[in-house]
Amino acid sequence: DSDNEAAEAPQELYLPGLLGANVGKKNSNKSGVEDSKVVLTPKKAKELKVADGDVVAIIGRRRRATYAIASVPSKKKGSNSNCFISHNLASNLRIRDGDKLKVVALGKDAADAEERSGDMVLLTKDAEVVSSVTYSPIEDSLNNLINSEGGDEIEDEELMERFIEPYLNLEDDGGSVVAKSGSVVTMKDENGKTLDFMISHVDDGEEREEDDDTVVAGLVDTSTDVIVGGATPRVEVGLGYDSVGGCGKSVGLIRELVELPLRFPELWTTAGVPTPKGVLLHGPPGCGKTLIANALVEETGAHVVVINGPEIMARKGGESEANLRQAFEEAQAKAPSIIFMDELDSIAPKREQAQGETEKRIVSQLLTLMDSLKSNSNVMVIAATNRPNVIESALRRPGRFDRELEIAIPDEEGREEIIKIKTKDMKLDDDVNLHQIAMDTHGYVGADLSQLTLEAALQCIRSNVANFDVDSEEPIPDEALDRLVVTNEHFMHALSC
Ligand code: ADP
Repeated sequence: DSDNEAAEAPQELYLPGLLGANVGKKNSNKSGVEDSKVVLTPKKAKELKVADGDVVAIIGRRRRATYAIASVPSKKKGSNSNCFISHNLASNLRIRDGDKLKVVALGKDAADAEERSGDMVLLTKDAEVVSSVTYSPIEDSLNNLINSEGGDEIEDEELMERFIEPYLNLEDDGGSVVAKSGSVVTMKDENGKTLDFMISHVDDGEEREEDDDTVVAGLVDTSTDVIVGGATPRVEVGLGYDSVGGCGKSVGLIRELVELPLRFPELWTTAGVPTPKGVLLHGPPGCGKTLIANALVEETGAHVVVINGPEIMARKGGESEANLRQAFEEAQAKAPSIIFMDELDSIAPKREQAQGETEKRIVSQLLTLMDSLKSNSNVMVIAATNRPNVIESALRRPGRFDRELEIAIPDEEGREEIIKIKTKDMKLDDDVNLHQIAMDTHGYVGADLSQLTLEAALQCIRSNVANFDVDSEEPIPDEALDRLVVTNEHFMHALSC
């Protein structure tokens, strides 16, 4: 039975360079892992043919990759994890504690990795010295530093001498590796004060086509032109999975089913099995199927092609099939890609139930397209439906939508998680008890809870509107805005709607 099959996590596949990351705490360099280092256990290092001080390539998520210096302490106490990295490095690579990253020794393996078609990340072949790198202090961090020192501006020259030069440690050969632009590193002065910088530009002196995916990263030495850039705002990392509440297990499963094959297709090739092609998400409307698909797209950085069932069926005379074909072609050309088919039941009802010739042709076309997808093409098809039972059963066979995942109505705990997510940017009064609201909303799905919190916020605005002079040309004063606090009463009103 396919439902039981879906409930089992695929077996963990083994590849030596694929490691579970143990990520250091935010703002803590106490664990001793610097932002440009990856700490490996001696055993792992030996297996990967990496020695202390070697430069390695690390591949993270969302097409993030960089070089790092391997650090191989003779003994790593109290942990059986193979790989430690700093919080900054993890967020630069878009990974979280426990996520998989890949460590590749440079040289032959790196070249192989680069030549492998469909690879999500292309690093330059070897870690070469870059011609210039620009470090821009991050605004909030710089302001904190300035405020802690009496409020005087800090000149670029001082930033260079106090932070950047010691960090790069160029005199004693040191140097460092630089990550691709957009990465954040924390630097420390001799008094232990810290300042966060963003690598705002890295140049390796090569001219590149606009659509070249190569990640420019490399080493810094005395020939590198090091520049202090203007202060830059902190860019928060988009956290797609964090927008989904109450489906922890399903999200974990779908990450294994979709994210791992897109990132590391070689796991499947090495194990001698085809990568999964399609995942069918099913469950009642409003439980988060579309939300989960969006989170996957956001978090994998894959190209996405959306096929909306009813929309595609509304096309006339062969156009629907042509659209389907185009979608698959686009996905293959821009791989790694995710094809998301919403309301699959409207595209592919059981053939015996399909009304006309058109519907039958479209189902056949879809079957053909699924079959023609090569298993290593780095294209994943995710479909969503509220009615899995009306879908053409041929589509649910191996090599097509061979995995199915139910996204169910949330339980009390799930509801509380969802309400927390939906109210995270709201100012809540102390009398609001989210746990109680979760208990009172039996049967509500995510979409209902989203509506509920919206209604509570609207009620809050309504009850405060008398305090505002709506005809005034002036912006609403801050004190008035401060009074926009959502109370239990507002929620009670929303619940009674
Ligand atoms: P489905 O595709 O299952 O019909 P959607 O993903 O379109 O449902 O959900 C509609 C909206 O409801 C989402 O945009 C989101 O705001 C909210 N929602 C639904 N499920 C969840 C969930 N599990 N966690 C957080 N929000 C949810």
